[in-house]
Amino acid sequence: MAGFGIHLSISGGVAQAAARARELGCDTFQIFSRNPRTLKAKPIDPDDATAFRAIVGELEIRPVVIHVNYLINVASPKDDTYQLSVDALTDELVRADVLGAELVVMHPGNHLGSGVEAGAARIASAIDRAYESTGARARLCLENMAGAGTEIGTTFAELRTIIDMARLGPTLGVCFDTCHAYGAGYDVCTARGLRATIEEARSAVGIERIVAVHANDSKGQLGGRKDQHEHIGHGAIGLPGFRNILACPELAGLPFILETPVDSPEDQVRDLAAIRSCAQQDEHRQLTGRMRVEV
Ligand SMILES: [Zn+2]
Ligand SMILES: [Zn+2]
Repeated sequence: MAGFGIHLSISGGVAQAAARARELGCDTFQIFSRNPRTLKAKPIDPDDATAFRAIVGELEIRPVVIHVNYLINVASPKDDTYQLSVDALTDELVRADVLGAELVVMHPGNHLGSGVEAGAARIASAIDRAYESTGARARLCLENMAGAGTEIGTTFAELRTIIDMARLGPTLGVCFDTCHAYGAGYDVCTARGLRATIEEARSAVGIERIVAVHANDSKGQLGGRKDQHEHIGHGAIGLPGFRNILACPELAGLPFILETPVDSPEDQVRDLAAIRSCAQQDEHRQLTGRMRVEV
């Protein structure tokens, strides 16, 4: 059975985000561990971290996921941006350990014209440097991207290129974003399209490497290369698409984390209910299917 959760704001501190996860009945959740609008960061307040770990531990919310700052670009060919990004990624891993987070999800980066191979080599060496200087415990996951601009990681093969170039490659996970996949041209809405997607993932990166799902509906069309998240059921993937995704045995047991728009607090409640209903309908179908076989 999949676990369900949501990306939560840390504007009131990390412990308040954990409290909100409890209030929403999340099985898992994701946060930024630092202000997402700047590469500079204050250390996490130790009392806030302790309170965070207490809530998470008491509820056994798992996994706790940190999403790396969007401004980090370890694929950058520019040396100053690259160095700042490596330092920030290193700090993200340290923070993840402070919070006891199991997973750290990262957008691979933008090569800015230097090409996928050159960008992937920069990413791989940044990952190695960040881990080798910290000995961090949290597992880093590369996220698949929609393919806007010069984004790397639009296909599973591109993620594999990074994995192969990094000394730490064997330890890297993959976070599968449904909106990004759809934008990149993977038709996750149909049983056939999703099967082809899963088989491509199997041969390029291995199924066991996919350890989390970002469950987002898509404002953009199939192959439109748009990274624009929509409420569950309101976008091009739609409720039938999410029922299809939740019925996929390779994805079914994973943590599903929503990164859907939040215009009001009710949006989070509604989107969580919507994704859960897609899973329940699937369970119901499996049960009735099984009964029919038995009869
Ligand atoms: Zn992301
Ligand atoms: Zn996105």
